[in-house]
Amino acid sequence: MARKKFYIDKTDKPQTGSKNIWNVALYVRLSREDSDKRESDSVTNQKKLLNYYIESHEEFLLSSFYIDENFTGTNFNRPAFQRMFKDAKNGNINCIIVKDLSRFAREYIGAGHYLENVLPNYNCRFISILDDVDTKTNPDSVTDLMVRIKSLLHDYNSQRISINVRATKDAQRREGKYISPLAPFGYKKDPDNKHKLIMDETAKPIIENIYKWYLSGMGNIRIAQKLNELGIATRSQYRKTGNLHNTMLAEYSWRPKAIQKILINKVYIGAVDQRRETTRNYKDRTRITLDEKEHFIVYDMHEPIISKENFNRVQKKKKTLCAKTSRYKNKLYTLSGLLKCKDCGYAMLRNQTFMKGRWYVYYKCRAYNQRGASVCNHNHSMREEEIVSATLAAINIQIQSLIDIKELIKEINFKRLADKKTNKNIINFERMIEEKMKKIKQIKNLKVSCYSDWKNGSIDKDDYLLMKDKFDDSLSKFQNEILALNEEKKLQNAIRSCEFDWIDNIIKNGKIKKLTHEIAVSLIDTIHVDQNKQLDINFKFVNEYEKLKYYINSIAFAV
Ligand SMILES: [Zn+2]
Repeated sequence: MARKKFYIDKTDKPQTGSKNIWNVALYVRLSREDSDKRESDSVTNQKKLLNYYIESHEEFLLSSFYIDENFTGTNFNRPAFQRMFKDAKNGNINCIIVKDLSRFAREYIGAGHYLENVLPNYNCRFISILDDVDTKTNPDSVTDLMVRIKSLLHDYNSQRISINVRATKDAQRREGKYISPLAPFGYKKDPDNKHKLIMDETAKPIIENIYKWYLSGMGNIRIAQKLNELGIATRSQYRKTGNLHNTMLAEYSWRPKAIQKILINKVYIGAVDQRRETTRNYKDRTRITLDEKEHFIVYDMHEPIISKENFNRVQKKKKTLCAKTSRYKNKLYTLSGLLKCKDCGYAMLRNQTFMKGRWYVYYKCRAYNQRGASVCNHNHSMREEEIVSATLAAINIQIQSLIDIKELIKEINFKRLADKKTNKNIINFERMIEEKMKKIKQIKNLKVSCYSDWKNGSIDKDDYLLMKDKFDDSLSKFQNEILALNEEKKLQNAIRSCEFDWIDNIIKNGKIKKLTHEIAVSLIDTIHVDQNKQLDINFKFVNEYEKLKYYINSIAFAV
C-alpha cells in the first residue's frame, strides 16, 4: 500500500464539535501467542476491518499503517508501535485506531500509561473499535473501569500461555528427559531419541580441559582467555559450523560466564539437571538462577565426561572462593551492589575522572575494564547520575502503579459489595483446607498401623519402607497444598480489605525525590545495564505484584 502522509498545521488542531480532519494511524499487531486464534486476528483481517472503519467515517484520513508482525503485546519494544508514538509526538498523526485493545497491548499498567498519560499529552485521539473506546466522543471511556478490567484480562491471557508451556515442560524435566532443543557442549542429541544425550567425542576434550585447568588453579576469566587464544570455537559457533576451530574470532568468543556454567553443570557427570534457571515471569524475561533444591535432577541418564570425584572437587573449590570475595566490602554508593553488565553478567565498576573542572562519576563493565573485549564486547559505560535518575524515575512509575492498583482494588471491591459469591469463596477455602487436614490425619493413622503390621510380622520390612515413603510423599504433598491454600486465603482477605503491608510500605511516602542506597536496595534486586544505556531493573516485589495481578484478574472474571 502506498504510504500517504498528511501533516497538520499546529494552529489548526482538531477541536471538539468542529469539522476536522484526523490524520489516522492504523495499528496492527500479530504474534505467535495469537496463532491459535481465529482467522479474524490475521493481519489482513485487521487491516480490512480498520479500513472499513475509516471509510465509513468522513473525518478520517489514512496517514499510515503501522504493523508489528511477530511481536508480543506483553511489552512495548515493538518497532512500528514505537515509530507510531514518535509520529504522534511530532504531530504527524493525531489519531490511533486499533481493532481491539489486545492488539494495542496485553499489559495493563503500560497500556494505561500510554492511554491515560502519553496520548492526551500529544493531543492524540485513540479509538479501539471493538471495545467501543474513543477518547474524543467519550473521553471517559478509557478510564472507565470496564476498559481497565478488559486490559487486565488481556494481561491475564498472556500470562496463562506462558504458565501452561512451563507446566508441560516441567513434567518432562521431572522424568529426566532432556528437553532443551540444543545439547550442551560436549554432547549431542541421540538421533533415535531427542530427549537423550550422547557423547560428542570431538568436543569432549574441551570440557575435560576446562575442568582440569580449573583444578590446576586457573579462574573462569583465565580459562576463557586461554580457549580464545587457542582459537577454540564457542558452543554456538561450533554448532553453526561443526568445526571446533574458531574462524569468526572476535565475534564469537568464550566468556567467563560460559566457563562458570560448564563448571557447575551436572550434565557432565551424567545427570540431567534441568530448570536451573527460569524467567522472572511471562513479561520480564530476565533469567534468574534457581536454588538447587528447585532443580529437577535425574542422575545416570547418559555417559559422564567428568568423574563425580573431580566434579565435587571443583564445586568445593568454587565455594571457598566465593566466601573469600564476599568478604570485601566497598563503601556504599547509591547503587552499590545492584549494577550488572547485561551482556556478561559481571558487576559494574565505579570510576571517577576529573575533567574541565569537575568530577565525572561513571560505571563500566568490570570484565571489559579488566580483561578487555575478549571477555565482554563493550564497556557499557554510563554516568552514575544518569543511572540514578533513570532508576528513580522507574521507581516512581512503580510507586504510581501500586497506588493505581490499590485504587482499582477499591473500585472492584465497591462493585462486589453486594455480591454474595465472594463470601462463598472464602468459606470454600476453609473447607478445602479442612478436607486436606482430614486427609493428613488419615495418612498418619495408616502410617502408624503399617508400622505395627511390620512389628508384629504381618508385613515384611521392604514393604513397610516402601509404604512409608509413599505415605511421606503424600503427607508433604498435602502439607504444601495447605500452605498454598492459606496463602491464597490471606491474599483474598487482603484484597477484600484492601490492606497490603508490602504496598503500603512502598507507597507510604508517595513519590521519592532523592534516591538513597537504603531505598534502592529495599526495592531493587539488580539493575542490568546494556550497551545502549538501557536499564533492566528487577524489582524485589515482582512476585507479590504478579500474584496480586493474577488475583485481580480472577476477580475481574467474577464482576
Ligand atoms: Zn560486560
